[in-house]
Amino acid sequence: MAKTTTIRDLDVTGKRVLVRADFNVPLEGGKVSDDSRIAGTLPTLEYLLERGARVILMSHLGRPKGKKDPKYSLRPVASDLADKLGRPVLFLEDCRGAKVEEAVSQMQDGNVVLLENVRFYPDEEQNGEEMSKELARLADVYVNDAFGSAHRAHASTEGVTRHVDICAAGLLMEKELKFLGDHTANPDRPFVVILGGAKVSDKINVIQALLDKADTLLIGGAMAYTFALAVGRKVGGSLSEPDKVEVARAALKKAEERGVKFLLPVDNLIVDAIDFDARTVGESRLTGEGEDIPDGWEGVDIGPKTVELFRNEIAGAKTVLWNGPMGIFEIEACSKGTFAVAEAVAANEGCVSIIGGGDSVKAIKKSGYAEKVGFISTGGGASLEFLEGKTLPGVDALDTV
Ligand code: AMP
Repeated sequence: MAKTTTIRDLDVTGKRVLVRADFNVPLEGGKVSDDSRIAGTLPTLEYLLERGARVILMSHLGRPKGKKDPKYSLRPVASDLADKLGRPVLFLEDCRGAKVEEAVSQMQDGNVVLLENVRFYPDEEQNGEEMSKELARLADVYVNDAFGSAHRAHASTEGVTRHVDICAAGLLMEKELKFLGDHTANPDRPFVVILGGAKVSDKINVIQALLDKADTLLIGGAMAYTFALAVGRKVGGSLSEPDKVEVARAALKKAEERGVKFLLPVDNLIVDAIDFDARTVGESRLTGEGEDIPDGWEGVDIGPKTVELFRNEIAGAKTVLWNGPMGIFEIEACSKGTFAVAEAVAANEGCVSIIGGGDSVKAIKKSGYAEKVGFISTGGGASLEFLEGKTLPGVDALDTV
């Protein structure tokens, strides 16, 4: 397969480099309250600036629905970024038009400009031709470092690439493609995949794709209850999708045919009531090994025997990919299984460990083991689509070497 061009393949000195970053950060009181996404782009920005590029940054923030709305301004990102880079970041109050072009034409080597939210125009999400051309006029080179937005064909992720000659991946994007792509396509074995979360329907395509690559699949979360139904078990009031039982059965059959070990929970934490908003549960108990979940009870986490089973598999893995929590980890009483899995992944220091985006990222951060795992994807929907084997428009649009 052709390799995506990255900024390492380019000469960027003196060039106007238009970087699509992911600065979709939470704001509180006009300040950035979690700067991890900004920090994530620093390697790319420092690489470009050390080589004397003129860096023009663009991003979306929130969902302003195609209208200018100060609530979603990227201005707070400019000051945060300037602190981190140790150099001024000029914030422009628009992302297109004559004033923006004028400001960019005044830039010197090593200057940084941040454009206003690209979603202030409906053309962004509609992948408008005019906006794509206007953005392209700002650039000698286009760089995409926003993996989390690469599954959408928008003006700033796809349209613009049709009008810029040189289009490359940034270093963060490169890392995403390496871990979610190369390491799962040609994994060091055994390759153990841990999948959890709410619904089989959200993840069935990922399951299908990974059944071609993995040696072992460990299933937790509410998703496991649909599989439990598929093997004739009872799940009481647990969250499940009876209309997906056939799909689950087909996945189990595929696993058997391919010799992929497919492990479901052997015990569960069950509760007779739950209040998600208050983060409380009613009466709770563990099921015995192999015991069905009775009516009036719902499964909210994997039990300790399952943790042990999963831990053993994770300990012997050379590659681990984890997507989706093992239970309702937002409630402390139901979080043990998820955190135990996080601990087990972190404890296997010799393996390539990949946290595949979304809620598992929140879970690993909350567990305190985030620093100890290999790679944490910045993409939610994008990482799932990529793992499904889909082509991401924002990646496909980049040059290859
Ligand atoms: P997903 O976005 O598919 O990865 O699903 C994440 C959500 O699944 C989290 O909000 C969890 O609370 C939820 N979840 C995990 N296990 C269960 C369960 N046993 N019952 C209900 N929800 C669950």
